[in-house]
Amino acid sequence: MDDPVSPFRPLPQDHPDCIVECRACKWRWTVYQQQIGLPLRCPVCGSADRQVYVGTMGVGSGRQVAFSSFRILLDDRRVLTMIETWLTLRHVGGEQFVDAADRNVPLADIHHAIQGRAEWQGALYNVYMNRVR
Ligand SMILES: [Zn+2]
Repeated sequence: MDDPVSPFRPLPQDHPDCIVECRACKWRWTVYQQQIGLPLRCPVCGSADRQVYVGTMGVGSGRQVAFSSFRILLDDRRVLTMIETWLTLRHVGGEQFVDAADRNVPLADIHHAIQGRAEWQGALYNVYMNRVR
């Protein structure tokens, strides 16, 4: 099948720091500057379009979600699923997560682990960005 979305291979020094908004479902996510103006596929609804350019994040720490904000996001099933999948933990209610041996894992450790990995940090930031509007 012919994919209308243009292939793009980022260089190591490139960072996906431009925010676009899906014309169909209004989901916001980050793309590379070089992709602005090209047809892009929405990761949520799958529509491929020249999405709306919203803005560019600051260099560096732009995608961090503070611990206090992270706690608020725990009422979102998507975030709980991310944590469970990424860190192989189980949500047992409230801010409580346990590992495979049923040991309680402090929320601060979970937050730290997510912030330490760019792709997790980015995914969490996407949820955060779509909440605070
Ligand atoms: Zn969409």
